[in-house]
Amino acid sequence: MAEKIDYEKISDDEFRLRFRTWLIANFPAHLKQNHHRPFRRLRGDDAVNWLNLLDKNGWRAPAWPREFGGMGLSFRKQLIYHEELEHAGVARVIDLGESQLGPTLIKCGSAEQRAEYLPKILSCEHVWCQGYSEPGAGSDLASLRTSAVRDRNDFVVNGQKIWTTQANDSTHIFMLVRTGQFPKKQLGISFLLIDLKTPGITIRPIVNLAGEDEFCEVFFDDVRVPAKNLVGELDQGWSVAKALLGYERVWIGSPVLAGKALALANTLVRELNLTDDQGVMDRLAQLSADLHDYRLLYAEICNGIADGGQPGVEVSMLKLYASELLQGLTEFNQEIAAEYGGIVGDVEIGATLVDLHWQFMMARPVTVFAGANEIQRDILAKAVLRMAED
Ligand SMILES: Cc1cc2nc3c(=O)[nH]c(=O)nc-3n(C[C@H](O)[C@H](O)[C@H](O)COP(=O)(O)OP(=O)(O)OC[C@H]3O[C@@H](n4cnc5c(N)ncnc54)[C@H](O)[C@@H]3O)c2cc1C
Repeated sequence: MAEKIDYEKISDDEFRLRFRTWLIANFPAHLKQNHHRPFRRLRGDDAVNWLNLLDKNGWRAPAWPREFGGMGLSFRKQLIYHEELEHAGVARVIDLGESQLGPTLIKCGSAEQRAEYLPKILSCEHVWCQGYSEPGAGSDLASLRTSAVRDRNDFVVNGQKIWTTQANDSTHIFMLVRTGQFPKKQLGISFLLIDLKTPGITIRPIVNLAGEDEFCEVFFDDVRVPAKNLVGELDQGWSVAKALLGYERVWIGSPVLAGKALALANTLVRELNLTDDQGVMDRLAQLSADLHDYRLLYAEICNGIADGGQPGVEVSMLKLYASELLQGLTEFNQEIAAEYGGIVGDVEIGATLVDLHWQFMMARPVTVFAGANEIQRDILAKAVLRMAED
């Protein structure tokens, strides 16, 4: 294990250079994002091995305080950290233990929960998924019905979760469950930690439009969960879950995926000899200008947070803009490729190997997850009209 360096003691430029150099030397070339897989994600052993390597070399959990094993970076250095991952073409990992559960436990967990779970998140002994959505409780999450009833030292959990990303790759799930009925439905929800090996749990993968089994249904049938796995107060899980939403939307709003789709668009226009097609070039110019504007907006909001601000409702703008831009670009890529765009699987366009169907389909859900875009518009409208929040 490398000695933990305090990166806040070195300049931003020095930090950037060190991380860049390390990434170039250590991220496996065959797992990089490229035109073929512009939004590539790591799964299973590839993900665990990569996160382990980051951990062993002191590059894991940039936002966690150093006392809990993280890097303790300021927001500005976290931005550099993410920029360098993107710059190096490092495939993304959906690491909800690091990005969501760890910060939640640091903020709302007990000392015992932090001691038990945080080190295992860092080492990847535990891989976590998020069990919030249910059939009938997505945007209106507070309508969730999966119940947890106290029975001596346990909760007994019954119900179903859906769209649980990578539950089939995970060892544990953090969940919102109904523990009480109150006139305000956000009350009576609690935050529970559950080992997915507990008897009574069934995981059924769902194949998405791109052909990947990336999310699942998870069924709970009289599942006994130790009461000590409750995070925060009983019936107050809504506040526990909401504590982190602002930062989640900042990272989800990153312009990087749209940037990769635009790079592919430029390559396709060249390979398909479309540079004389005024209609195509006008659309490309518009999309490029939109991405340029968006990068400036993203930088402005991030710099505001780095200068000591808190993520406010404007982060909803990021989620909206980034997701719609990505869809616009992947649609453009598929359309200009004409007959190639309809092929499912790999196709060679000039010297470039692409899978246009995959990049198009992988961009479809971005307007739905992490708060559907209509809901983000609602949040923005309420802020502008100064209406009361739920
Ligand atoms: C790829 C992907 C991964 C996901 N991963 C997870 C996960 O790991 N864990 C998890 O818990 N969940 C996950 N989800 C679920 C996600 O959070 C929900 O899909 C999302 O909250 C929307 O809920 P819903 O699907 O039930 O749609 P609904 O809420 O039924 O919405 C359907 C449509 O109606 C619109 N709508 C709903 N309410 C309103 C309103 N009040 N005003 C205007 N329009 C409205 C929505 O915008 C949407 O267009 C994932 C979803 C996707 C697509």
